[in-house]
Order: sequence, then C-alpha cells, then structure tokens
Amino acid sequence: MRHDALVIGGSFAGLSAAMQLARARRSVCVVDAGEPRNRFAAAAHGFFGLDGVPPLALMAQARAKLLAYPNVHFVQARATGAAADGAGGFTVALDAGTPLSAQKLLLAFGIADTLPALDGLHERWGRSVLHCPYCHGYEVGGGPLGVLYASPLSVHQAMLIPDWGPTTFFLDGHDDALDEATRAKLLARGITLEPARVAGVEGEAPRLTGVRLADGRVVPVDALFIATRTRMASPLAEQLGCAFDEGMLGPVIRTDASKLTTVPGVYAAGDAGQIPQNATLASADGLIAGVSLHQALVHGL
Ligand SMILES: Cc1cc2nc3c(=O)[nH]c(=O)nc-3n(C[C@H](O)[C@H](O)[C@H](O)COP(=O)(O)OP(=O)(O)OC[C@H]3O[C@@H](n4cnc5c(N)ncnc54)[C@H](O)[C@@H]3O)c2cc1C
Repeated sequence: MRHDALVIGGSFAGLSAAMQLARARRSVCVVDAGEPRNRFAAAAHGFFGLDGVPPLALMAQARAKLLAYPNVHFVQARATGAAADGAGGFTVALDAGTPLSAQKLLLAFGIADTLPALDGLHERWGRSVLHCPYCHGYEVGGGPLGVLYASPLSVHQAMLIPDWGPTTFFLDGHDDALDEATRAKLLARGITLEPARVAGVEGEAPRLTGVRLADGRVVPVDALFIATRTRMASPLAEQLGCAFDEGMLGPVIRTDASKLTTVPGVYAAGDAGQIPQNATLASADGLIAGVSLHQALVHGL
C-alpha cells in the first residue's frame, strides 16, 4: 500500500504531525523505534497539561489517541534506508518487515546526545547528569550544582544555573576559554570557577554526590549540567541528500518555514530539524510539518 505520508519517528514531533494528517483524513503511516531522546529521564517536564509524566507513558498516551483514527498505521521498527521510488514518492526499508512506500516523507527521528568521555556519566544521564535546567533543574535544585565545560555554550549554561542552586563551573583544564570580561560576569553571579581537570563522578548511580578532580579532591554536587554535542539519530536525511545547518550543539536538517527540506517531498520536524530543542517546540514543529505536508498533497506540490 502506498500511503499519502510516511512519518519516521513517532514521538513529540512525529505523532503531532501524524495527528494533523489523520484528521485531514489522509493515509498516514508512522514508523518508530521507541527511543525518544528524553527516555532516560524519570519524568518529562514543562509539557502543557502533562508536567511530570514519565516519557514513555506520555508517548503511549499520545500514540493511543492517534491510533484511534482508522486511517493511521503504526509500525514498531527502525527505518534503515530511504530513497525516491522514481514515481514521485519514496520507499523506506525497515530493519524488520516489508518496505513501506509513500507520496511524502516526514523525518522526525530526533537527535542523540554525545556525552564527554568520562566514566559514570551515561548511567546518570537524565537523572543527575543533565543538559537542560528548564527540564529538570527544579527537581535537583536547592543544593550544590555543577556545570562541566564541554563547549563555549557551557559559559551560557553556567550563567543560568545559580538560579537553581550554588554553582561550581568545572573548567576541566579549559581555563583559557574564559576572557576577563566573561570571568568577571561568572564571578558576579556567585559561581565558583574550578580550573582543574575532571577525573570522574561520585555517588551510587543514578545519584550523584560529587565531582572528582584529577588532583584527588572531590567537590560535592547534587547534579551536573553538560551542554552535550548532538548528532542525527538516523542517517536517513543524509542518504536522501538533505542539506544541513550547523546548530548550537550539532547539525540540524535545513528546512524552510513550511518544514520542507532541500529535497522535494521530504519534510523534517522536531529536534532533527529545529533549534532550540524541547518537547513542546518539537510538538509544535510537527504540527506545522503535518499541515504543510497535507497542503502540499492537496496542491499536488
Ligand atoms: C535526558 C533528557 C531529558 C529531557 N527532558 C525534557 C523535558 O523534561 N522537557 C522537555 O520539554 N524536553 C526535554 N528534553 C528534550 C526532548 O526530549 C526533545 O526535545 C524531544 O524528545 C524531541 O522530540 P522529537 O519528536 O523531535 O524526537 P524524539 O523524542 O527523540 O523522538 C524521535 C523518535 O524517532 C525514533 N527513531 C529514530 N530513528 C529512527 C529510525 N531510523 N526509524 C524509526 N524511528 C526512529 C526514536 O526511536 C524516537 O522514538 C530532554 C532531553 C534529554 C536528552
């Protein structure tokens, strides 16, 4: 069966886009590998009306609402390849099951975070090692907090964190990354600057009790913020020939205001195709993509 639209990624962006297409009575298929970016967190925060719901429960709820529409198909699988089918549409290969085909494609597969190579970060990611204070700062706030220098953006992150608790900025040997004006601003915010190299973290995961420095000292912190580098969660956009822009922390798929990529018929939404990257914005981005994609089908674009 050839669907009107095939959505790759069934999370905030993909399910929001598919909902618009479903309500437009179009045939839409969502393929999802079931690994939303925030799955490491105990709860998703700040999402309208659903603050504090565990990420996978939130996704199951949204998926159930979507699947109530009979014109929606859902495939639990990973898309492994995508190509133009020579008849104005696309064919997508899956890691399990038969290939799918559609008139239009929406890439909503998100991004993945690359943590610094430091023992103990992975098992605490989303719990006490965090990327975003607006998402999880309230829960860890009040006690001592840390920011690990990972890129120039870490300076911006460090400036914010004192609103959640007394902050140490672990420069991890990048003392020379701060000019005098920046250093003065950080100090004026009451931030402690720690120039030493970082050797590891302490505490029984997923809890964090301190940051261990290369000289053996341990600085107590309840949570550590890191502005991680990001990468595409799937190589499909590259395979299709989409252009990319360099975002704040990694590449994003280039789109116009309608969320159309540089490849005709291929749309992108959510973290993979926008900054800033946040669940509410991903959902709104998906809505724009779904409506645009529907209107392109109507007008034969
Ligand atoms: C630890 C952590 C906690 C966060 N907490 C919050 C929070 O509390 N509040 C908030 O607003 N934001 C939070 N965020 C940001 C939020 O997770 C993202 O902005 C949001 O998930 C982006 O939605 P998306 O639909 O674009 O992508 P995702 O939610 O990442 O979903 C992409 C989906 O596509 C699937 N997929 C990937 N590749 C393929 C493929 N090849 N084939 C099929 N499916 C595929 C994935 O399995 C996944 O289900 C958090 C991020 C992190 C890292």
